[in-house]
Amino acid sequence: MSSQGCIFCKIIAGEIPSSKVYEDDMCIAFNDLHPQAPTHILIVPREHIASLDEATDDHRPLLGHLLFCAAKLAREKGFSENGYRLVINTNDAGGQTIFHIHVHLLGGRQFIFPPG
Ligand code: 5GP
Ligand code: ZN
Repeated sequence: MSSQGCIFCKIIAGEIPSSKVYEDDMCIAFNDLHPQAPTHILIVPREHIASLDEATDDHRPLLGHLLFCAAKLAREKGFSENGYRLVINTNDAGGQTIFHIHVHLLGGRQFIFPPG
């Protein structure tokens, strides 16, 4: 299922180019267009889910899969021992700008908490 006009659905469909780093039957991962860290990857489910707020009970395995893939990518990129940051911006006050759920994987620099 895709949503018309959704940039990430278009990337998944190959209609918009992206720098893909991983894909499987449930998700794809590609480099963020405007990286906020030396490594900034977006892990995106193939299914269009507008935000974490829209995830249902049926999406529990998919949500776990996204986190598992993020951890795997961090290990492959070599910064898992040093540490990294996962972010899921949710709805307007959460800073979400693309309404197709995605996990940001940021690595390669020191992060502070709380974030802005
Ligand atoms: P959000 O603000 O919704 O949490 O994150 C959306 C992210 O998507 C932003 O970090 C933004 O830089 C990235 N982004 C927006 N448009 C594109 C695009 O066309 N290609 C890629 N690779 N990233 C994009
Ligand atoms: Zn979408």
